[in-house]
Amino acid sequence: MEKEIKVFPKFAIKFLSESFPKDRRIEMLKFWFEEFLNKKLMPKYEGGVFGNLSFRLKDNKDEFIITASGMKEPSSADSFIKVSLVDLKKKEVYAHGKNPPSSESMFHFMIYKKRQDINAIFHGHCEEMLKNCNKLKLPCTEKEEPYGTIELANGILEVLDNHSFLIIKNHGFISLGKDMDSAGNQAIDYLLKTFA
Ligand SMILES: [Zn+2]
Repeated sequence: MEKEIKVFPKFAIKFLSESFPKDRRIEMLKFWFEEFLNKKLMPKYEGGVFGNLSFRLKDNKDEFIITASGMKEPSSADSFIKVSLVDLKKKEVYAHGKNPPSSESMFHFMIYKKRQDINAIFHGHCEEMLKNCNKLKLPCTEKEEPYGTIELANGILEVLDNHSFLIIKNHGFISLGKDMDSAGNQAIDYLLKTFA
């Protein structure tokens, strides 16, 4: 049974099933979610937190597990969603789970597709890091674009190259890793460098 809801104006989510993705690595995603909250790499707002974390399910496949949209804390089983496919032309995201996946699922999907060496993508927001983008010599997207759009995703892909850490202009950062620990620790390293 296919259920469709439109949560964001930018793309539609099609739920392929409500079944919650079972994977022991979700525990690690929860750990990093807490860590990002503690380090203020994902600031809170009324409806959730600014940021989203994901990991690739299998080598050479583009499916991934990502935090749900508007997720505040990683307590419930419904906080994680499996994204199977993103149809960029139709602007549709195919998901398994009970809640909509992060509104940035599009760029996660595009990065996994382009970079087979990357198995974890952590996106957070840190004002100080944006201000220190030049000092830190970080690659940055060309133009500011609204969140959750294909334009923002395309801007990221344009500067992606072989980088593992980059800035989304006037928005936030993306940390890429061969696994979750690499992506998480790298973000913390840049946070330390920001305030050094
Ligand atoms: Zn963001």
